[in-house]
Amino acid sequence: MIVVQKYGGTSVETPEKMLKVAQRISKSQDMGNHVAVVVSAMGKTTNYLTDLLYKVNPHPEPREYDAMLSTGEQISTALLASALSMLGKRAVSLTGFQAGIDTDSNHARAKLKRIYRGKILSIMDEGKIPVIAGFQGMSPSGEITTLGRGGSDTTAVAVAYALDADMCEIYTDVDGVYAADPRYVSNPKHIEKISYDEMIEMAAHGAKVLHLRSVELARRYKVPLIVKHAHVDGKETRIEEMDKMEEPLVRALSVDENIAKIVVEGVPDKPGIAAKIFEKIARQHIPLDMIVQSMHKDRKNDVAFTVASHDLRETLEIMRETQKDVEAENVHYDDTLAKVSIVGVNILGSSEIIYNMFNTIASTGANIDMISSSNSRVSCIIPKTHIKQVAQSLAQKFNLIE
Ligand code: ASP
Ligand code: MG
Repeated sequence: MIVVQKYGGTSVETPEKMLKVAQRISKSQDMGNHVAVVVSAMGKTTNYLTDLLYKVNPHPEPREYDAMLSTGEQISTALLASALSMLGKRAVSLTGFQAGIDTDSNHARAKLKRIYRGKILSIMDEGKIPVIAGFQGMSPSGEITTLGRGGSDTTAVAVAYALDADMCEIYTDVDGVYAADPRYVSNPKHIEKISYDEMIEMAAHGAKVLHLRSVELARRYKVPLIVKHAHVDGKETRIEEMDKMEEPLVRALSVDENIAKIVVEGVPDKPGIAAKIFEKIARQHIPLDMIVQSMHKDRKNDVAFTVASHDLRETLEIMRETQKDVEAENVHYDDTLAKVSIVGVNILGSSEIIYNMFNTIASTGANIDMISSSNSRVSCIIPKTHIKQVAQSLAQKFNLIE
C-alpha cells in the first residue's frame, strides 16, 4: 500500500512527541507500506512566527509573510527526518519547493496547481521516507507561497493524489470526527464514517478537524481519508464516498463564532448593484458566506453578507470605498453573531427537519438573524450569547449526543 501520513502541529509539539511520531511512521513502513509524510509546524509555532513578524511590521509584504511562516514547517521536516534516522530509517526532509509543489502566486492564500511527483517517488523508490513540509509551495516565479492557515491537510491530500496513494491518514489531537464540537455540546457522538459532502459542509461551517480545501480535493479525486489521534490508538473516522441514505438524517452540527456580518443599506433596486458591491471583494479573493438581499420601501434594497472575522477589517474598508459607487445610504457591521449549522445528506428535502431546527432555536429564545441552506446543510445566524444553549438543544433534538 502507498500511504500518506500527515501529522498536525500538536502531534509534533515536543521532541518527545516527534520521536513517537517517528515510531508510528517507521511501524507503518515495517508493515510493508510505502510511506510519504507531510508535517505541520510544531505546536503554536506558526502563531509565534506571525506575532514576531507583526511586531516588526504590522503590514508585512505578502512575500515576506510567506517566507516567514513557511519556516515553521521546515523545522518540523528536518527534526522528523532526524528522528526517523535515530530509529535506523532513512528519511529525507523536503520543503514545498523541493517536493515539486507548485502553486499560484497568491501569497498567504495560494492554491495548489500541480505536484511534480518525480522527486518524492525517487526517494520512495530508494526505500527512503520523504518528509514533506505542509502548507507551502512555490509560485510560477519561484517565490515561496503558503496555502492559508491550516493548509497542511491540503498538502497531504494533494500528495496522496499525486502518488495515487491508497490512503491519506490525518493524525491529529482528536480521535476522529464528532457529531458536534465538545466545546459547545457535552458528550457528542463519535462518527465512524462520513461522506465527503457532509464533511465538506462541516469543515466549511465551523468544524476545525480538517481544512476545508483538503476535503474538497479529496472528494474531487476520490482520495480516502482517515482521521486518527496521533498518540492514542482506538477510534478513527473514515471519510469516503457513501451511498445516499433513504431517509434524510441530521448527522452533525457545527458552530462558527468567527463570522461577521456586513450590511449595505438602502441601495437602489436596479440591475448591476450586486455585481458592483462584490466586485472589489472578489478582486481581493475574500471568501463570502451568506448573502441576503431584502427589499424595502421606495425600491431600495438592503444587502447583508457574512465574512470570516479575520476578513472583516479589509472587507469593511472595501465597502466604505464602494459605498458611493453603489449609492448606499449606509454601511455597517455586526460582530456579535455566530453561526450554527446542521448537516446531513439531503436534509433540505425534509421540511420536518427544518421546522424542528427553527422551533428548537425559538425555544431557547434566540432570534434568528439570517438563514442559508444547501442540499445537505441548514445554517442560522444567531447572537453569540445564545450559541451554547442553541447548540446543546439542537444536538439533543437531533440525537447527536452519546
Ligand atoms: N502551520 C500552519 C498553521 O498553523 C499550517 C497547518 O498547521 O496546517 O496554520
Ligand atoms: Mg495547524
